Amino acid sequence: FTTKAGLYTASDQIVILTPDNVDSVLVNSTAAMVVEFYASWCGHCIAFSPVWKSLARDIKEWKPAMDLAAIDCANPVNIPICSGFDVKGYPTLKFFHAYSKADSKGQVFKAFPRDVRGLRHKLIDLMETHKDPWPPACPPLETASKVEIDNFFDTNNVEHLALIFEMSNSYVGREVILDMLQYENLAVRRVLNTEEGLVTKLGVTDFPSCYLYYPSGNFTRLIVHNEARVFYSYALQTLPRVVRAGKLPQPPPTYDLMKNTTGDHERPFNRSRVYMADLESTLYYSLRVELAAHTVIKGEALSALQEYFTVLVKYFPGRPVVMNLLKSVATWLKDRKDSELSYSSLKDALDNTAEVPNAALPDSVRWVGCQGSKPHFRGYPCGMWTLFHVLTVQAKEAASKDPQEVIQAMRLYVYYFFGCRECATHFENMAMESMSQVGTWITPVLWLWSRHNQVNNRLAGAPSEDPRFPKIQWPPPELCPSCHGVKPTGEHTWQQEEVLAFLHTHFSSEHLLSDYLE
Ligand code: FAD
Repeated sequence: FTTKAGLYTASDQIVILTPDNVDSVLVNSTAAMVVEFYASWCGHCIAFSPVWKSLARDIKEWKPAMDLAAIDCANPVNIPICSGFDVKGYPTLKFFHAYSKADSKGQVFKAFPRDVRGLRHKLIDLMETHKDPWPPACPPLETASKVEIDNFFDTNNVEHLALIFEMSNSYVGREVILDMLQYENLAVRRVLNTEEGLVTKLGVTDFPSCYLYYPSGNFTRLIVHNEARVFYSYALQTLPRVVRAGKLPQPPPTYDLMKNTTGDHERPFNRSRVYMADLESTLYYSLRVELAAHTVIKGEALSALQEYFTVLVKYFPGRPVVMNLLKSVATWLKDRKDSELSYSSLKDALDNTAEVPNAALPDSVRWVGCQGSKPHFRGYPCGMWTLFHVLTVQAKEAASKDPQEVIQAMRLYVYYFFGCRECATHFENMAMESMSQVGTWITPVLWLWSRHNQVNNRLAGAPSEDPRFPKIQWPPPELCPSCHGVKPTGEHTWQQEEVLAFLHTHFSSEHLLSDYLE
């Protein structure tokens, strides 16, 4: 799945150009495109590639208006393309307007910054020089006047208008406008401190600051932890009825079975908490549905299953009745002498509650915090991540001596059994890349958190994303304000110590809610 193309892969949020797609990507595109022409052997290109990848992650929400691409000019099949665009040195960056013609050679960046922030600003500058036709998905970037805002709701059918007040040299307003362009029911405009009519009307004294403005003429200041880009974008995403637009109507088939089996009515829940009902539902689905697809389990897959049960027995913070069942099955699995296990015998062990008193799994799934807005959203994969986080935190609480114990067991479970095979491949690639650092450079809890955010980043806007639960970098400031910091340059930074402390509380056994359990 990971299309290796020189320095970038298909998971980098960067379009990898090839002779087969170059025309369809660059010619007549509805988005402006920025292409890095590079040679995979060139040291400067190798040094620049992490920046290009970070930029792609940073501006992934801008894709409908402006997208990043890359082409490896050292690959012989690409040489005619690179020479056709008059590329002589590497890396070369070129800007292609939306609706570029087939003979367009793009606009070369003469000198360009080598950091994400500088590049992001450069892209905004270029976008502002964009000639007509303007990319249709790109909202206006220019500053708004009082007259425009006074008449805004006459011509715009949105519920929320966010005004970012700022100095003329600030990019925050334009960044947030682009960050939010995929969200429905919200418009964002930038207003300069010199726009006296509006500044006076709203009584604005801080620049930047953000105000929500309503058709009635009412307004309210957006309360954020820090007056900075990421905090505005986080807060605006959580406004009522603001959802990511452009969802594909078809659900991915893998998730069809994950809906509530106890009826599809909605269960009210607290988004900032973890529910035991989700963890038990995950066990139910994993043990009774997912494993049932494996008629015979043997070899390394059988060892993986034993490891899975071992960590569940050691660290699952379950009710006694569930723990009794897990323990009895784990013991039975360990004591078996056969080299093969049929699922039917595992099922018998799971059902064999007569011999083990007071032992049972719930008999259906009952998603609570993992409920989706439609049956095919969320459910099991949400539960699996939650289980995974809870187990790593529990292992730490239990002072496990082996930092890799839980994540290796879960890695193997995902590798051998997780029904979404594409997910399993992606996860295995991440594990191969960095899991060896766990226990030395990074704790298992933080490793899993950062990899989960990496997945969230890749999946933002994907068809499997529930519009009511956008894939954000988690935890958002409203859950953990102190997890977020701002560098002197205005860039967002994670306060890892705070994140770790937050994860330990959020996923701790004392913090689990037991609502909706049978
Ligand atoms: P999820 O991402 O499932 O998260 C569940 C809950 O965990 C969230 O609601 C939030 O409360 C919390 N959370 C979110 N981020 C973090 C974090 N960084 N740290 C701690 N807690 C967090 N889907 C694909 O389409 N392609 C894939 O390649 C893919 N790979 C996957 C790999 C694994 C191992 C798993 C378990 C799932 C994978 N999925 C993949 C499914 C996808 O990641 C989501 O689980 C699914 O889309 C449901 O999303 P969700 O909104 O419920 O949030």
